[in-house]
Amino acid sequence: MAKKGNPNDANLSGERSAAPFVPKTTSIKALSAASHECRGCDLYKTATQVVFGAGPAKARVMFVGEQPGDQEDRQGAPFVGPAGALLDKALEEAGIPRSDVYVTNAVKHFKWEPRGKRRIHKKPRMSEIKACRPWLEAELRARCCGPPIRKDGAPPMNRWWPI
Ligand code: SF4
Repeated sequence: MAKKGNPNDANLSGERSAAPFVPKTTSIKALSAASHECRGCDLYKTATQVVFGAGPAKARVMFVGEQPGDQEDRQGAPFVGPAGALLDKALEEAGIPRSDVYVTNAVKHFKWEPRGKRRIHKKPRMSEIKACRPWLEAELRARCCGPPIRKDGAPPMNRWWPI
C-alpha cells in the first residue's frame, strides 16, 4: 500500500524527494503500486501516469534510462517506445534474452514540452533526478546489491547502463 506523503515534504536541505512515498519493501509489485502516489517533485502533474520499472525477479541485467518517453507515458510501461526498440535490437545483438532484463528509469514521470500537437522530451533537471532517486535505490535493493550510483544521483551514462 502506498505511503501517503505531503507534496511539499522536504529533507533537511529543503530539497523535494520521493523518500516519504517509498515503502520499506523489496517487493517490486508493492513499490510499483506505491509509486502511483508519489508527489516527490512536480513531474507527476503533467505526465499521464507513473512508469515504474519492469522485469523478472531473477533478472541478470538491469538497464536504467533517463526517463519515460511519450509512448511509455501513454502505455505506463518502460522501454516500449523507440528506446525500447533500440534496446531490443541491442539485446538481440548481444545475445541477451529480454526475459533476463529489468528495465527502469532514473525519473519515473515523463517530462515534456509541447511542440505543435506533439509532446517533446525535455531533459529532467538534476533536482528532479535526485528527488526520484529513492525509487531507483529501492529497485536496486529489490533486484540486487546495486551498482554504483553517482553521488549527484544521475545515471553514469546519458541513456542507460548495464549492471
Ligand atoms: S518523477 Fe519521481 S519523484 Fe517526481 S513525482 Fe514522479 S515518481 Fe515522484
